[in-house]
Amino acid sequence: MNTAQLIDGKAVAAQVVAEVRDEVSALRAQGIEPALAVVLVGDDPASHVYVRNKVLRAEEVGIRSLEHRLPADCSAEQLLAVVEALNTDATVNGILVQLPLPAHIDENRVLQAIDPAKDVDGFHSENVGGLSQGRPVLTPCTPAGCMRLLKQTCGDLRGKHAVVIGRSNIVGKPMAALLLQADCTVTVVHSRSLNPQALCRQADIVIAAVGRPRMIDASWIKPGAVVIDVGINRIEEDGKSRLVGDVDFASVAAVASAITPVPGGVGPMTIALLMQNTLTAARQQRLNSAAAPAIAEATCLSTC
Ligand code: NDP
Repeated sequence: MNTAQLIDGKAVAAQVVAEVRDEVSALRAQGIEPALAVVLVGDDPASHVYVRNKVLRAEEVGIRSLEHRLPADCSAEQLLAVVEALNTDATVNGILVQLPLPAHIDENRVLQAIDPAKDVDGFHSENVGGLSQGRPVLTPCTPAGCMRLLKQTCGDLRGKHAVVIGRSNIVGKPMAALLLQADCTVTVVHSRSLNPQALCRQADIVIAAVGRPRMIDASWIKPGAVVIDVGINRIEEDGKSRLVGDVDFASVAAVASAITPVPGGVGPMTIALLMQNTLTAARQQRLNSAAAPAIAEATCLSTC
């Protein structure tokens, strides 16, 4: 029986974190201290865990972190005022508003209020548009993490047929855009797709981002395909609570050539790529601020 290569997300995430740590330390030696602000609204326990992990990882790589906590009943205006203050604070390079927000606050309005240059989640429409045009922009962390895993596993992705299962704004759509940028042939499957299993069976690369425990079994997979499981689902099994992916790991590992586990696959990559995005934002802002006086001077020379 074939047993797929395990794609070790923890190990690759540790490499990304080490790269970011080295580059942050080089910036700090020049007197530049990258900083990430995380805004948390309400008392959702899962969100608190995610924020704590992001702050800890930032500290680990030398990125200064700031936490802003607001009560669950805060108004949209109060939250927007915090975002605006962070937008104008030149010492803050990245802003992340932890989702989901309480139901009375329009998530999209808040995401659009973040300065696109500091939008380390890559959810602002300017970054979403830039990604679809193939411009270098801040890219959503989970799909960016999947791309790093794929490149390290497959090398050249050109011409491969990739099937993305799921079309959310956070995972499926940006994933499809990144695969297209890497010259893959991309098919996106969603809940209204006809015969999704047959479409998926044509894929050299499968990205599962559905949110349904173990939905993708071996009957969806072409022998030798590479399978990236984004799903994180908590289930009760044998009297225990476990985390499982969207892929039925045991059956798919018998036909795929490589597969990510859950946990330990895509999950660790997401925070690592958040650190990388914060570093990228800090560098870009530094370049822009260095260029700004020169541009102002050139404009003055041509118009004064
Ligand atoms: P969403 O619920 O936003 O999107 C799920 C997508 O799956 C939708 O596009 C939906 O289609 C599609 N879908 C649902 N049922 C089927 C089906 N039977 N056949 C084909 N497609 C289907 O989820 P997210 O994209 O936010 O997350 C997906 C999974 O990834 C979740 O388990 C989540 O926990 C996990 N996740 C993991 C992260 C990580 O760091 N590892 C980060 C983010 C998410 P339609 O649009 O038609 O409704």
